[in-house]
Amino acid sequence: MKNLYSKIPKVDQIIEDNRIKNLIDKRSRDIVVEIIRENLDSLRQKIREKDVEEKDFDIDSLVKKTIDRVEKAYEFKLKNVINATGTVIHTNLGRSLMNEDTISHIANMARYYTNLEYDLETGKRGSRYDSIVDLIKRITGAEDALVVNNNAAAVILALSSWGDGKEVITSRGELVEIGGSFRIPEVMEQSGAKLVEVGATNKTHISDYQRAINEDTGALLKVHTSNYRIVGFTDNVSLEDLVKLGREESIPVIEDLGSGVLIDLSRYGLEYEPTVQESVKAGVDIITFSGDKLLGGPQAGIIVGKSEYIDQMKRHPLNRAFRIDKFTISALESTLRYYIDEEKAIEKIPTIKMIVQDVEEIEDKAFRFMKLIDDSTKDKLDIQIVKDYSQVGGGSMPLERLESRSVKISSDIIKISRFEKSLRELETPIIGRIYKESLYLDFRTVFDEQIEGMAKEFEKALNEV
Ligand SMILES: *Cc1c(COP(=O)(O)O)cnc(C)c1O
Repeated sequence: MKNLYSKIPKVDQIIEDNRIKNLIDKRSRDIVVEIIRENLDSLRQKIREKDVEEKDFDIDSLVKKTIDRVEKAYEFKLKNVINATGTVIHTNLGRSLMNEDTISHIANMARYYTNLEYDLETGKRGSRYDSIVDLIKRITGAEDALVVNNNAAAVILALSSWGDGKEVITSRGELVEIGGSFRIPEVMEQSGAKLVEVGATNKTHISDYQRAINEDTGALLKVHTSNYRIVGFTDNVSLEDLVKLGREESIPVIEDLGSGVLIDLSRYGLEYEPTVQESVKAGVDIITFSGDKLLGGPQAGIIVGKSEYIDQMKRHPLNRAFRIDKFTISALESTLRYYIDEEKAIEKIPTIKMIVQDVEEIEDKAFRFMKLIDDSTKDKLDIQIVKDYSQVGGGSMPLERLESRSVKISSDIIKISRFEKSLRELETPIIGRIYKESLYLDFRTVFDEQIEGMAKEFEKALNEV
């Protein structure tokens, strides 16, 4: 045992190696030494666990291990992947994408100083929200607007402004959970509001709200059940009725719309989703929605509504904590500008463009990919183009099935789960979907310019299996 410990090389012995000397020239000495120490520590650990082999003491293998780990420490952890899941608003893969014009606008705003909080007319301090608030008002028809970090923050800000220490009335059918711990009852608690549930899961009537109102009521909350549907024997209260009740009782009506659709997508053959404009028209006092779901912009929480309410929210201390940075502002302004003209929005915003994409276009991409795959690869894999359905994602339009085309891969020779893992380990990982022992690569969410590289990487991954 003791003997084994004495066989551990000294740090200096490893540093003396020419390859490590070169590494220190290129990288920081501190990190190299730190990683050598970590490697020697794990060697000690292995001795303790009696899980050590002769070759573990080898200087050469320790040098190689050090180089590998140091280089890994310098690699980007956040990187591009190829989304071949077909899910357009994929929360795990970064939700919405920006187009070239937006990207170059953000880059310019990042490169040089901007008038972020500077009023060019007066030469005095200005508001960072000026550039987007007017646009949001024009597009939605709302009296005023406010933007925070994400929709979850928008809901918390709204509830904290009117619900703190008060009761907030919500329908039992609308107690939504969005992925990642955002649940209406918990958000409510966080904001200091007391949740008052009314009605039943499938049916809530205006009289249910009416009966629950008392002097402690702070707000009426309506939540769009964006990621699920209750079907069958159902009834819920219309926005108009809820607004009317709020008016009569002088209680603000808050609506969490979730996705934030600014154009009626049912005109493009999609499932109907309520638009922001409809809620504004119905007279809802405060409406919150996401910037990076169906709107197709950057991560943000947009709040629109009546001036008196928005004003109060602007002054809430949480507003400062939830504030957005200049990159978000530039991306949002750039995206919102397209909505002045609906056709531009469809043509220019990647999220929407991918959702309304023609099947023929998707099929073309799948074909191009197939043509680039070697015959020898096709011997190992059973690979064909199949009809498939993609999802909108981001908890939006849960019932919508978008007809698509996928490359379906199965094999008698290799294990599909191994191959799928190998695709994930590529320099630019390819993310697909396994269903019943086959791998599906849906081309809706793959870009034209990615296909060539993707085919090469695909073959590389196969060789690694
Ligand atoms: C997505 C969603 C949220 C959270 O929005 P983020 O922008 O992800 O913070 C809140 N409420 C509803 C109804 C949603 O669909």
